[in-house]
Amino acid sequence: MIPVNEPLLKGNELAYVTECIKTGWISSAGRFIEQFEQKWSAYCGMEHGVSMCNGTVALQAAVAALELKPGDEIIMPSFTIISCALAAVYNGAKPVLVDCDPETWTMDPAAIEAKINPKTRAIMPVHIYGHPCDMDPILALAKKHSLAVIEDAAEAHGAEYKGRKCGSFGDISCFSFYANKIITAGEGGMALTSNPVYAERLKAQRNLCFRPERRFFHTELGHNFRITNMQAAVALAQMEQIEEFLKKKRAMARAYQEKLKGVKGLTLPVEKDWAKNVYWMYGLVLDGSRGMDAVQFAKLLSTEGVETRPFFLGLHEQPVFHDMGLFRGERYPVTERIAANGLYLPSGLAITPQQIEQAADAVVKVLA
Ligand SMILES: *Cc1c(COP(=O)(O)O)cnc(C)c1O
Repeated sequence: MIPVNEPLLKGNELAYVTECIKTGWISSAGRFIEQFEQKWSAYCGMEHGVSMCNGTVALQAAVAALELKPGDEIIMPSFTIISCALAAVYNGAKPVLVDCDPETWTMDPAAIEAKINPKTRAIMPVHIYGHPCDMDPILALAKKHSLAVIEDAAEAHGAEYKGRKCGSFGDISCFSFYANKIITAGEGGMALTSNPVYAERLKAQRNLCFRPERRFFHTELGHNFRITNMQAAVALAQMEQIEEFLKKKRAMARAYQEKLKGVKGLTLPVEKDWAKNVYWMYGLVLDGSRGMDAVQFAKLLSTEGVETRPFFLGLHEQPVFHDMGLFRGERYPVTERIAANGLYLPSGLAITPQQIEQAADAVVKVLA
């Protein structure tokens, strides 16, 4: 079976983790945490980096840093991971959805303004599968209505919008370093900001809201969202290889594109002229002409030895939110269509040209 993701850990990962063990710096302080925060924030063009134990809690801490009131609203795409909605809900805020663009699968900026009302406080654009959101209209709306922007760049390490890095646009931007992300720490996350007030709030959220003036004295509810020096050691070693990783991802996409561009009934990932797509995952959407949905497609590919993952299910289709009275009866047709008909092919950094060819051949075969 060609795995859907396999990380590449061939740089200084082992040497750096070994240093942690040998020196005893295995917990949530140490040189790798500081260096990774500095290097990642500088790479993305933000002033402060606050590392966290995963990307989900980085989003949660980012929303907490906005200090919203109960019932305040955050506009986000319907086509995204549940982490985005959880970040709102766990902070007492209400997630409000907009559909996505049929080509880039990222939030449709034209759908946002109709959802803005006096309770709206923030917009959360999510760069999907390595392709950036169309940020200019999103930022213009945020400015016009005085809304904060929390950018979810978990899938877009090194991606660019009009020559600027994803993760540099939000008031706060969030990353995940889970094992399938382009740069991994095993598990890890980070929130970036250039606002010193947000930076302090993010650090407080991460560390139980200890007050600086006296240890074990608290005026707010915090969390333990800390990362370990061992995880940061892996991530720092990974970051040293980011240019090579991005080249590999783009070469993988070119190879898939070459093999699959003529296949009828398939929509392939795009790269808008304002975008640098880093192809975090190589997604495919069936157009229905085969009388097959993504579940059947995945089964057939699996019998050919190709592991895949289905696309996200829309946030408005999640039973857990219906039970809370959220999104009932709401429809987002593009999200529903791609959720039912989309999956992604093996896309990990350890994939070989032969595996790409085999996976693409399997797609051609099962659609023939
Ligand atoms: C992976 C991911 C997250 C969550 O990150 P974890 O580290 O797995 O908690 C959040 N948003 C998006 C878009 C993701 O792809």
